[in-house]
Amino acid sequence: MAASILSSRDLWRAVLGELELQLPRPTFETWLKKTEGVSHDDHQFVVEVPTAFAVEWLERRMYQAIHKAVEKVAQRPLEIQFRVVTEAETQSQQGISANTGPGLDIGLEPAAGASVHSALREGFARQQFNSKYTFDNFVIGGCNQLAFSAAQAVAEAPGQAYNPLFLYSGVGLGKTHLLHAIGHTCESRGQSVLYVTSEQFTNHFVSAIRNRTTEDFRSHYRGVQVLLMDDVQFLSGKEQTHEGFFHTFNDLHTSGRQVVITSDRPPSALALLQDRMRSRLEWGLIADIEPPGLETRMAILASKTSQLKISIDDGIIELIAKRVQKNVRELEGSLNRIVANLQLMNVDITYDSTSRILDSVVTDSARHNIEPESIIKHVASHYRFDTDVLLGRRRTKKIALARQVAMYLLIYELEMPPTTVGRMLGGRDHSTVIHGAGKINGEISEDRELRQDVLAIKEAIFS
Ligand code: ADP
Ligand code: MG
Repeated sequence: MAASILSSRDLWRAVLGELELQLPRPTFETWLKKTEGVSHDDHQFVVEVPTAFAVEWLERRMYQAIHKAVEKVAQRPLEIQFRVVTEAETQSQQGISANTGPGLDIGLEPAAGASVHSALREGFARQQFNSKYTFDNFVIGGCNQLAFSAAQAVAEAPGQAYNPLFLYSGVGLGKTHLLHAIGHTCESRGQSVLYVTSEQFTNHFVSAIRNRTTEDFRSHYRGVQVLLMDDVQFLSGKEQTHEGFFHTFNDLHTSGRQVVITSDRPPSALALLQDRMRSRLEWGLIADIEPPGLETRMAILASKTSQLKISIDDGIIELIAKRVQKNVRELEGSLNRIVANLQLMNVDITYDSTSRILDSVVTDSARHNIEPESIIKHVASHYRFDTDVLLGRRRTKKIALARQVAMYLLIYELEMPPTTVGRMLGGRDHSTVIHGAGKINGEISEDRELRQDVLAIKEAIFS
């Protein structure tokens, strides 16, 4: 591959990939997703951010983390300068089409003097569909076939095929991508589409109550033909907002409007979702997306490299796909990082250089400062045992399985030496540990239930 210096945009992409692995998802999505690297020189890197409020927040709360990530990717010290993007620039940014369709102005009165609210309103009015998140760019495999077909059917005939459509999966497996793809398709036919994250929904709803504009709020939502609600699990714990969502949902559903909801877990596992809401979700279609298998991971990487207009050897694609297994977001992040690193260092993408970079990608994502005790605790609680049981001598089938899962996570996620793991797990021999961890590692791709257990535990640990 031709060596070249990365553009500010690509460099920032790589930084975002880095940050996405480190930060809690809501933080990343709220504050960093819509930022863009616009220029850099020897000392300074300039990042554009949608609102003044976000600039302030990033400077105050995130400077350290961003600074570190930039230095790591750029491999030299750079100060970071955040500035507010101008409207014209937002519209002309390549790959993002400003959404000027109807139904996107929330219509809330600004709360006097409250910059937070105006910032939120601004963010909402500028809502955009990511032009990369289309059906065409979505790689289909056994893991996501049902979700993909359902999303496409809904986009073809909103309100008719499956209503509501409920998609769930672990993080980074394509839920948001599919929502945007539905959004594009419907909007291109002139239908009014509203995409909201549950955090945005909550913010709008809370401001509507505070400003006594709940009627506006209702009629605003009622006016859309397609409502796309992302990450509904973040409504959990907010009873009043739940009620608001329930009514919004009902308004739309009874008048034949399409509702699509995503979540990180099935409806049955959503805390605080009242039974009446849950049963309504079951009227439609519930589809899950599983982590992609090796072949699909390779197909995804091939598709991403062709989008990036770079060519990488099949053997190297396979190497990346084998090493990065967790989800597509991480797969993409790793690829971006490999490309960025190698371009910055002016070296070709070879098996060895890729492997070296992957070493750091994989350990970084496992790093997260997780304590081994926390893994043991989460495994025990997932299987509903006391930690003592896991560390003790009893050996029912279920206890033995839980113990092996703990061994697997300690070894493969934290990369701890087997002897240490054995000691931590109640004084077990290191060969027992190697056997146990290896067994889970071997079975995980075949055994769906085991895979879901491990995923759920990992999500609990890393969230
Ligand atoms: P989620 O919302 O489930 O956390 P996203 O939709 O944000 O996941 O996906 C994470 C990244 O992975 C996005 O960049 C998305 O485009 C990409 N992605 C996920 N699944 C696929 C797929 N099947 N084909 C191509 N890209 C995918
Ligand atoms: Mg998402």
